[in-house]
Amino acid sequence: MNLHEYQAKALFARFGIPVPEGILAESPEAARAAAKALGTEKVVVKAQVHAGGRGKAGGVKLVTGPDAAEEAAKGMLGKRLVTKQTDAKGLPINSVWVEKPSNIARELYVSGLVDRTRERIVFMASAAGGMDIEEVAEHTPEKIKHIYVNPAAGLQPYQARELGFFMDLTKEQTDQFTKLLLGLYRVLTECDASMVEVNPLIVTAEGNLFTLDGKLNFDENALFRQKEIANQRDPAQEDERERAAAKYDLNYVTLEGNIGCMVNGAGLAMATMDIVKLHGGQPANFLDVGGGTTAEKVTEAFKLITASPEVKAIFINIFGGIVKCDLIAEGIITACKQTGLKLPVVARLQGTNMEKGQQLLRDSGLAITPVSDLTEAAQTVVKLAQGK
Ligand code: ADP
Ligand code: MG
Repeated sequence: MNLHEYQAKALFARFGIPVPEGILAESPEAARAAAKALGTEKVVVKAQVHAGGRGKAGGVKLVTGPDAAEEAAKGMLGKRLVTKQTDAKGLPINSVWVEKPSNIARELYVSGLVDRTRERIVFMASAAGGMDIEEVAEHTPEKIKHIYVNPAAGLQPYQARELGFFMDLTKEQTDQFTKLLLGLYRVLTECDASMVEVNPLIVTAEGNLFTLDGKLNFDENALFRQKEIANQRDPAQEDERERAAAKYDLNYVTLEGNIGCMVNGAGLAMATMDIVKLHGGQPANFLDVGGGTTAEKVTEAFKLITASPEVKAIFINIFGGIVKCDLIAEGIITACKQTGLKLPVVARLQGTNMEKGQQLLRDSGLAITPVSDLTEAAQTVVKLAQGK
């Protein structure tokens, strides 16, 4: 789960991390009032969406006066923002954060996340902050320094100082940075965040550190004990189908093709998408219905897949290990009848009771083609999706 920048900043402030002053606005009039209340000559109007890259996409505007703030908000609210980090449809802008401008001398980068391989929290920092940290990581990785936190000892001030020196901070700024990093470490550990990113972390012309942007990602498995954070979820920023899928414990990701895939097991789901692509098709989704699939889950999965108007054919690829193929077949048949399915379906059922399952599909009278060979199944579904 993600938070908006304004929510992240409120959380930062609670942990003693310096953030610029700002006010949330959900209408152009509110943005005008916010600019007035802040009382500075200029303000920054920032679109609140769950994606970075807003600056380059017109989602961050430095303006002079309340009139201009209102105008900037009007240009953003109710629209969708497409950035390098969103899909082609972008994300809806339902609020803007009106903020006091900072006098930027330097833009730095700092982030912390869980490094699963090392089983440690890792912090990364760079003097090359601002808008293009991905480019820095790709072309000049030596400009990013990593430190790993020993979970028993916790983040040590000397580690924060190491990063501070690496970014050429003065002694005083390094002290500020140490406090700030210890705060970010507390956000990570105490709020069950899996990622925190501040880009840019700035040094002002006066020589002080501020977090100008904030991205936070939380461990979904810990949300039951982070009620306050869970309550800040913004469903408008999430993919509707992915949310529905989560309700039924289905692992679902929307993609841009036209072949709906229903598979059990993440590995098999990846392999299925690969083979669809290999034969010239494009998967419309990644869907892992899980190991112990039930007929009910299969029905829900079907509803999800068919809810996308882009889907032209469905590929079911199930390996009956724990689950039995005849049960799956029954689920598929029920789902097809319930949803009044008109799309062609290719079903590959392998494993326990596969013959029984395939027989059920054949006898159902529905437009379901049972295929046992994976390559043949992929080729068939690609053709069907192309209307051949
Ligand atoms: P994103 O990462 O989505 O592009 P940021 O919040 O990082 O959005 O803003 C992009 C850029 O806009 C920053 O790198 C900074 O240069 C400028 N900016 C953002 N907030 C302020 C502010 N309060 N004062 C001055 N400049 C700002
Ligand atoms: Mg940023």
